[in-house]
Amino acid sequence: MQVTKEVVQEKWAKRPLIISGPCSAETEDQVMETATQLSKSGKVDILRAGIWKPRTRPGNFEGIGTKGLPWLQKAKALTGMPTTVEVATGKQVEDALHFDVDVLWIGARTTVNPFSVQEVADALRGVNVPVMIKNPINPDLELWIGAVERVAKAGIKQIGLIHRGFSSYGNTEYRNAPMWHLAIEMKRRHPDMLFINDPSHICGRRDILQEIAQKAIDLDYDGLMIESHIDPDNAWSDAKQQVTPQQLEKMLGDIVWRKEEIASAELHAALEKLRQQINHLDDEIMQLLGQRMNVAERIATYKKENNITILQTARWNEILDRAFKKSGQFSLSKEFITKYYDAVHMESINHQTRIFNS
Ligand code: PEP
Ligand code: MN
Repeated sequence: MQVTKEVVQEKWAKRPLIISGPCSAETEDQVMETATQLSKSGKVDILRAGIWKPRTRPGNFEGIGTKGLPWLQKAKALTGMPTTVEVATGKQVEDALHFDVDVLWIGARTTVNPFSVQEVADALRGVNVPVMIKNPINPDLELWIGAVERVAKAGIKQIGLIHRGFSSYGNTEYRNAPMWHLAIEMKRRHPDMLFINDPSHICGRRDILQEIAQKAIDLDYDGLMIESHIDPDNAWSDAKQQVTPQQLEKMLGDIVWRKEEIASAELHAALEKLRQQINHLDDEIMQLLGQRMNVAERIATYKKENNITILQTARWNEILDRAFKKSGQFSLSKEFITKYYDAVHMESINHQTRIFNS
């Protein structure tokens, strides 16, 4: 099947735009089989595969290299799906283009480095190819914008953005914290650019992909890039986050594709900012509660040493009285304060009991 420039344009303009394929091209069979199955689903527009893999530590699979590019050519010829790969150097741009890769993308580890982005941009001068730019690893919008500017200055007309989450200290739920507010701000600044979400690299695990994909669609993203593999558990990279083409098909089928919502991007951005504030405040409250329990435990140690009971009603009444007096000032109802202090008190007693029994 011939994939002309017109076919690529058509795909680029399609909404939602779905990009899928393995994290890494591993073998010819794996690429061909994945592509065939994805194509059968009828739900995938562009085939992705990593050819050169930026790995955090050496010794991990660093990509099959140029040898894998003819496999993508074959997969394209067989399925009619345009292809996309990650490029990080000028040489990689040349090789990818030499083997007719239709769309290029700049990875998160490259976007962080202006030298590398410039090298890629220089290699793109005079070339007519769509380029997608992933957000940098660290939550720095300026770096992302800088990369867009470098690629645009090289004369690339079709630039897309891929939100793949940001590295953050102490984050456990996600491999890369989505920090939706940053992505939304990026989208606000580039309203006409293709804006794709990459749930795979945000989640780092299969079980929450659906939720993130749905959220992206609810936030009016233009499409998704999701990694898929014929045998995810045995993938040579990112095994935990890949899904089979069948699982991908089901996932995409289960997404509620909301029509463009009345709510504007501004409204989303405003809501997201406020929600982030709520998250921060909740985190602080949680930390303070932990500290409060630590103090209660220290009190318990004194009580134990001096043979005093855990519950001292007079002291508890004093705490409640203070709380009631203050609650009005913060527009908190008496009912809420009572429930809240009851819960805190119970937890505190449990902590103290543990000290008494230790
Ligand atoms: C990838 O898409 O396989 C990849 C390496 O992604 P990122 O640059 O987002 O880490
Ligand atoms: Mn990957």
